[in-house]
Amino acid sequence: MIRAWLAELSRRFAHKGESHRLYTPRPPHPANVPGTFYVEDGCCISCGVWEDVAPDLLAWLPDGSYSHCYVARQPETDEEFVRMMDAMHVGEVDCIRARHCRPDWADRLRQAGLGHHIDPNGI
Ligand code: SF4
Repeated sequence: MIRAWLAELSRRFAHKGESHRLYTPRPPHPANVPGTFYVEDGCCISCGVWEDVAPDLLAWLPDGSYSHCYVARQPETDEEFVRMMDAMHVGEVDCIRARHCRPDWADRLRQAGLGHHIDPNGI
């Protein structure tokens, strides 16, 4: 009974291309600027690898601690979107995420193997 209930919940929350695991809400860090892409609050291991690919889109918190990055500017051009995808690829943990994503960008994220970075309720 519970197994069937969980399967139904998983089916309802699943989107094409995303995992069928139950979705756990990801709280955004409060420093993120509004928009599609965000860094999940509290998941940072200070990898800093985004500095090579998207230093104009992500930033360290201004306290000098290098304790967390956040989305400082949303991508506006295709080139910036591609670099945000690069940052999602190289991030050590899956903390750069997308929500309420443009359908064409969501498709490209899925094609790039980043579908699990899209909030299932955010399309
Ligand atoms: S990409 Fe993730 S792990 Fe790396 S600095 Fe940003 S929040 Fe931290």
